[in-house]
Amino acid sequence: MIQWLIPPPETPSLPVADSARRYAVRRILCVGQNYVDHAREMGADPDRPAPFFFSKPAMALVTDGGDPLFPSMTGNLHHEVELVLALGEAAEIVGWAVGCDLTRRDLQAEAKARGRPWDAAKGFDQSAPCGALTTGPGPDAASAIRLSVNGEGRQSARLSDMIWAPHEIVEQAARLWDLGPGDLIFTGTPAGVGPVQTGDRVEAVIEGLAPLSFTMGPPRS
Ligand code: MN
Repeated sequence: MIQWLIPPPETPSLPVADSARRYAVRRILCVGQNYVDHAREMGADPDRPAPFFFSKPAMALVTDGGDPLFPSMTGNLHHEVELVLALGEAAEIVGWAVGCDLTRRDLQAEAKARGRPWDAAKGFDQSAPCGALTTGPGPDAASAIRLSVNGEGRQSARLSDMIWAPHEIVEQAARLWDLGPGDLIFTGTPAGVGPVQTGDRVEAVIEGLAPLSFTMGPPRS
């Protein structure tokens, strides 16, 4: 029997819609610039480049309707609504969810300009609010993906606007990592990213999936 130096941390997990079961998460991979119009608004050429990945720690998840605290060290926190894939034993997609890739946009811009890593811009604590997983074949490509802040529409697209489709993203990620149970993939965001402030109500929807909503909490103290 293992004797721990200190008690092990809880395993991050997602609820499964219409089920008492949960899905244990070990890591979160994220795709950058997977919608043409968002790639353009970020100043990139969206001519189907190979997808690139960054990551967030599993403990960045905010689940079960929780409200994230407003992160430190940013004056420009952005929302990014995304389709989230959950992988199984053979790296097949076993579940689908609505996620929000919260981003310290000012730190990301600085990291890009200096050729530095994105961890502080993307992988901070509570940077990954995520809704319940829906199992099964997943939403069809015509499904709308939308995000509103205080009832005002900010992001609106179709999943078919993705440059790389879910199964293609898994194929590409599998060339770089041994994918398996506990791996979540955030698949990129459409255009319309913008700031979120303390007290803002964020509602994110993908047709066919459990919705995600949260209120941006007070600054972390
Ligand atoms: Mn993103």
